[in-house]
This record gives sequence, structure tokens and C-alpha cells, in this order.
Amino acid sequence: MQRLQMLAKATGRLGTETAFEVLARARALEAQGRHVVHLEIGEPDFDTPAYIVEAGIQAMREGFTHYGPSAGLPEVRAAIAEYAGAMRGVRVAPEEVVMTPGGKPVLFFGLMALVDPGDEVIYPNPGFPIYESVIRYLDAKPVPIRLSEDKAFSLDLDELESLVGPRTKMLILNTPANPTGGVIPKRDAERIAELAQKHDFWVLTDEIYARILYDGGHHSILSVPGMRERTLLLDGHSKTFAMTGWRLGFAVAPQPVADMIGKFMTNCNSCTASFTQRAGMAAVQGPQDAVEAMVAEFRRRRDLIVDGLNAIPKVRCLRPQGAFYVFPNITATGKKSAELASLLLQEAGVATLAGTAFGAYGEGYLRLSYANSQDNIREALKRMQSCIESLA
Ligand code: PLP
Repeated sequence: MQRLQMLAKATGRLGTETAFEVLARARALEAQGRHVVHLEIGEPDFDTPAYIVEAGIQAMREGFTHYGPSAGLPEVRAAIAEYAGAMRGVRVAPEEVVMTPGGKPVLFFGLMALVDPGDEVIYPNPGFPIYESVIRYLDAKPVPIRLSEDKAFSLDLDELESLVGPRTKMLILNTPANPTGGVIPKRDAERIAELAQKHDFWVLTDEIYARILYDGGHHSILSVPGMRERTLLLDGHSKTFAMTGWRLGFAVAPQPVADMIGKFMTNCNSCTASFTQRAGMAAVQGPQDAVEAMVAEFRRRRDLIVDGLNAIPKVRCLRPQGAFYVFPNITATGKKSAELASLLLQEAGVATLAGTAFGAYGEGYLRLSYANSQDNIREALKRMQSCIESLA
């Protein structure tokens, strides 16, 4: 108690990611000899492609083991400007790119650069829990927008319009989305852009899953005319190139914002690891077939898990268009999300997350990551089916 009182007040507003807590609980069960199928953690189970690993090793041998410029190595910023711009059909200058250790710092530094206490930030709910955590930490006002199953977990644009007010400073978008796999269609991005311009707010577009798409192309709000000067793009290598542990992400932003993110980098990390950046440059410049193979395998798993979940009585699951998550509706089981998730872990040895780990509107859902082998997914489905069938 005394120790808690020592902490700064703002720390009481900082949230967390339940995935890491569930992983720890699952590991504790495994330490007791139980077998657990892991569907809780959001990282590709594939190894980083060999050509990227080789580039990282080569970079270390060549001496990329020192500090570099805070915003990133010039050749890496140039390569990422080319890559991020080409994907979205826009021209990006190297000065508008900042390399960061993972995508998460773009969120933290981006909000620190743009949001004042009392400003309102609209963000998706259910959504990545770090959005609300950072908004609250900065003493800004979190304004959740509900993503509902009947809209395929996309935004309800009328509701969005009703939430925008004179204090709206920023809207956070995530497409494809964690935890639902939903995507924002092109026509919606265009209407959101109109709103942003009319009401003069920033858009932070989190596109960390942009390359993990199954049923169509990626539509970034950054591509909509007039949006470059009010958009902060978060992207990175963690999911696309199976590089979660390397820690590599990047921001694309108007230069004053990019410069400020660079200044936060100076204050916080000095720079992103130089050899990691060089590996990340090789990743975007090299052959992309490893990414295509990963996405093809994710698609097979998506179909396996969606069909399997829909075959379980009292469970209903949409077929998501992107990312590697499903968000099945479990209301018919009569259990609350957290209760069912913990039952599945304790009784069936299947680690999942409660939908409420992603916000209050996640009640009635579970989040399952299908970044696991088809055999493990089949085993998890079998265990879930018998556990759910045994409920009164
Ligand atoms: N944004 C979303 C929606 C995510 O799901 C994640 C990671 O799970 C991130 C950002 C952060 O990714 P990174 O590991 O690159 O920091």
C-alpha cells in the first residue's frame, strides 16, 4: 500500500494488455504439467524470414552496432518512405518517416506530440487496449466508438459524427483491426476524411496489419486527398515480417510531427537499434514471397477456425477480412466473456482472451488468435466444443 502511494498519480490511469497476463497464467498451468493450446497472444508463430535474419547479422558484422540518428538511419528512412508510400499510392519524403522500436512508440509519442489534457480522442471499442491506456495517461478524454458485429466490426459513421465535438482532437483508426479482424472500406475512409477536414481533427491510423488481408486491397485514409497534413500513420515490421522481438516500427507524419516524434526518441530511446533498422530495410526491399506465404497460411487457418467455431452450438463467428484474430459471439452460452475465457483455460486448456480485454463493448465475445498451427487449432476447437457443450 505504502509503495503504491509512492507512485505518480498519472500511473493510476495507465492500462495494460491482458494478453500478457493470460499468457503468464497459461504458463503457470503448463509448469504444473497441464497442456495448453495458446490462442491468446498476438504474434505470428512463423520465424523471421531467413534473408532478413541474414541482413541483421551482416549489419552487426559491418558495425551497425552504434547509436544512429534518433529518427532513423537516412537510408532506412528513405527505403521506408518508398515502401509505405507505394503501398498507399502517395509520395512520402524520408523526413516524414521516423523509425521506432516497434509500432507502439508511435502511439505513445504521437499522442504526446498532439494531444493536450482535456482534449477528446475517439477510439475503437472493442479495440487495442493501449489506445485507451495512453489517452487516459495523458489526461485526455477517451471517447469510445462502438464497433458492432452487425456492421462487420467497422465504424458506424453516423455514430462517429454524433461523437465529434469542439474538443475532438484526434480519431484513432485501426484497419485491419485487432481484436475483430474488421476493415474500414474505401468509401468509409473517404467519409471519415470529410469529417476530419470539416471538424479539423487529427487521424492516427494504425495499419500494423495492413499486409495481412484476405478479401481485397488495403485502403488507407492517408491516400484520401487532403489527409496527408492531418494523418499520423503507425505501421511496422512486427506482424508483416514476423519480427515482433526485433522491435521495429515506423511513423509517417507531417514533418513537424515527425520531428517531434524524433525528439521523443532522443529523450527516450536515443534511436532504434541500428542493425534492426538495417534488417528492416532488407525486409521491405527483398523478395516478398515469405509474406505472401504467411498470409496464405493465415487464410487457411482463418477458414478452419471460423468454420470450426460456427459448428459449436451457441457460438457464432464472422469471417474476418484481415489480421489473424477471430471475435466469436458467445452470448448464447449464458456466460460472461471473462468467465468463459477463464473456464476454457482452467477446464479445457485453451488460452483465449475475453472480449472485454478490448473494452466494455467486447462483452459477449472472445478473442482468439489463429497464429498457431492447424493441428493446434483443431485441438483447441475440439476442447472448446466439449467444454461449451458441457455447460448447463
Ligand atoms: N497496434 C495494434 C493494433 C496491435 O495489435 C499491436 C500489437 O499487438 C501494435 C499496434 C504494436 O505492435 P508492436 O509490437 O510493433 O509494437
